[in-house]
Amino acid sequence: MDHFLYRDGVMHAEDVPLTLIAEAVGTPTYVYSTATIERHARVFKEALADVESGPDGPLVAYAVKANPNAAVLATLARLGLGADVVSGGELVRARRAGIAAEKIIFSGVGKTADEMALALREGIGQFNLESEEEAETLSAVATSLGMEARVAFRINPDVDAGTHAKISTGKSENKFGIPYAGAIAAYARAAERPGVRVQGIAVHIGSQLTDLTPLEAAFGRIGALIAELRAAGHAIATADLGGGLGVPYDPSQPAPPPPALYGAMVAKATKGWNARLIFEPGRVIIGNAGVLLTRVIRVKPGAANPFVIVDAAMNDLMRPALYDAWHDIRAIVPRGPRVAANVVGPVCETGDTFAMGRAMDRVEAGDLVAFMTAGAYAATMASTYNSRPLTPEIVVNGADWSVVRPRQSLEQLIGEERLPNWLQGD
Ligand SMILES: *Cc1c(COP(=O)(O)O)cnc(C)c1O
Repeated sequence: MDHFLYRDGVMHAEDVPLTLIAEAVGTPTYVYSTATIERHARVFKEALADVESGPDGPLVAYAVKANPNAAVLATLARLGLGADVVSGGELVRARRAGIAAEKIIFSGVGKTADEMALALREGIGQFNLESEEEAETLSAVATSLGMEARVAFRINPDVDAGTHAKISTGKSENKFGIPYAGAIAAYARAAERPGVRVQGIAVHIGSQLTDLTPLEAAFGRIGALIAELRAAGHAIATADLGGGLGVPYDPSQPAPPPPALYGAMVAKATKGWNARLIFEPGRVIIGNAGVLLTRVIRVKPGAANPFVIVDAAMNDLMRPALYDAWHDIRAIVPRGPRVAANVVGPVCETGDTFAMGRAMDRVEAGDLVAFMTAGAYAATMASTYNSRPLTPEIVVNGADWSVVRPRQSLEQLIGEERLPNWLQGD
């Protein structure tokens, strides 16, 4: 469910016509809906109402990498969400948005010693370690600061998430986590290290999951490991079940399981664990809370179908080029008939193609178009390839709207560059 609906023949974000935003800030531009963000955060929390999670209830730590915009984070902070961060930059963003350090989880295979020190000084809730080598470094950093890091090991359960290979993370050949078979030994060695206190276990098998079966299998393995670890004397107080729940991109495909079904599966799979559960949803919170608004530059004849050339490109929305991702494409003011068209951006790469032979609203030069479900892994992956300035971001709230990141100017894009001294003067 989202709040991008047609009213009087014009697509609105909540109560704001997208035509108005395009006139005011130009295109391309990202537009996010506050009501949609809030709804998804609420639905996800409600879906966990029946899970056993100790006196504090579950911690929902939003995966910042899905969309790190300051306004998005501040919206979620007000709803009480924590944050799952994967870099020092994301950690600073989460803290500035008002997310309590205690509610921050630090994930990722390549945390540097500097990032660890930053996170320790901030007092984050948990480091999810992905190797014994990382435990060794964290132990050294914490000891040198006279501090103690609370840690969990991320386990690689060797489960195929059944999603796109580039966003699958839980197979033994993936770079993530420590091998399931090596877990007992890793915990035993970590327990000996100064400066780290082992408090939990973590798993995250991939993103855009459309079937709960692999998650259930992974959680089953984690449950068995918790029992083994406790039998070996380790106190496992937290169990972080990661993120990964998919969102509907293509309305003609079956929808992924809704949060309520996910919550029911979790309640069953984790019964009797006696641990505080942590969740790291990203896409399911923000995915369909955003659209990329773009304008048709021109329509050019093609061999089979016309090419609709829009002013957004792969540098603004990389998912189709990177993962063959499918985004619904809709006219902001539909003219009526639907046609087959190829939708492409201006970048000089054949990969800069959003759709081929797509059945969509017929559009002409100057028309506005939206790429739907562009809230997650979209603006955050943008680059300036082809010297195209970064796209602005707008947040709508009812009839109100605000530019929360202005369009980058050409001067900001180019002006930072310097010539070496041998090229200066003449
Ligand atoms: C990316 C990521 C998430 C979020 O995944 P979604 O599919 O967006 O829910 C959660 N945890 C970790 C460790 C991640 O890397």
